[in-house]
Amino acid sequence: MTTHTTRMLIIGSGPAGLSAAIYGARAGMQPIVVQGLQPGGQLTITTDVENYPGFADVIQGPWLMEQMTKQAEAVGTRMMWDTIVDVDLAGGSPFRATGDSGDEYVGDVLVISTGAQAKWLGVPGEQELGGKGVSACATCDGFFYRGKKVAVIGGGNTAVEEALYLTNHSDDVTLIHRRDELRSEKILQDRLFANPKISTLWNKTVERFVEGEDGKLHHLELVDTVTGEKSTLECDGAFVAIGHAPATELFKGKLPMDGGGYLIVDPGTPKTEIPGVFACGDVMDHTYRQAVTAAGTGCMAALDAERFLAAKEHAALEAAE
Ligand code: NAP
Repeated sequence: MTTHTTRMLIIGSGPAGLSAAIYGARAGMQPIVVQGLQPGGQLTITTDVENYPGFADVIQGPWLMEQMTKQAEAVGTRMMWDTIVDVDLAGGSPFRATGDSGDEYVGDVLVISTGAQAKWLGVPGEQELGGKGVSACATCDGFFYRGKKVAVIGGGNTAVEEALYLTNHSDDVTLIHRRDELRSEKILQDRLFANPKISTLWNKTVERFVEGEDGKLHHLELVDTVTGEKSTLECDGAFVAIGHAPATELFKGKLPMDGGGYLIVDPGTPKTEIPGVFACGDVMDHTYRQAVTAAGTGCMAALDAERFLAAKEHAALEAAE
């Protein structure tokens, strides 16, 4: 077992964690990033990225994350191929974390950027057609279905917002929900029902995503949750919008979370209730969930971490005098 010590320990290597690392390294905090099970995060399972500023041409998600990782390393970040399995926040700074490898990590500040993952239906064809018609992010992929027929699965705020967003690109959007009433806020429902480009299919679940001859999504096989009747819906794109699950299992009972399991921070900041522990990116943001917003909050976490350490070191100096 090896103990790795740093001024700035970062758990998670998506845009939030790597942006925190880039800023932290440049501020002399010699960050360690423990990458986790999916180094690079959610963008490594997407394909075309057109909405990350700075690139006039379409780039690939895995490539973007590779660049961010190299950039973080170039300015002095140590990347660790490990997954944190336990954290000890009880005694305040420095914070301790244990890796799956058995190694221990000790950081004067802790940045939590463990992200979130879209929930999937777990039915046949869903995984296989990922990026070939099946997506969990209309903001990311809606543009690729300009003028085509699309479906959204779910009945919460995300599903309704995704359906409304998709009408920017498609005149034929079908919302499929497993019950006959939506869970989403009334104002969103009103907008949905008033939009002539959106139709609804009630009491239906998707049993299978079916591939066409071109290797892309061709249609959905549906089943009625009341009558059991089977039907199909042809579409070019299907957006699964049944919620996201933040990766916060590690912090249960150690940091406050909202009902959805997202870490709670001081509004407008990445500060958790424990001084020196910061949360950034999708692990604390169920509203925006974009790579660029995650990167922004990662930057905020590093700036606040720097201030926290400066204040701590100043207090230690004063105490020594
Ligand atoms: P959500 O509110 O949990 O809604 C998930 C939806 O997916 C529900 O309608 C649920 O159906 C359906 N669903 C879940 N599992 C399913 C399955 N296996 N098969 C078929 N349908 C399934 O999730 P969300 O819409 O992502 O929202 C998450 C949180 O973020 C909420 O607190 C929401 O208010 C918030 N949010 C807010 C905004 C905003 O304020 N603008 C925007 C987006 C999200 P049932 O209804 O039958 O359970």
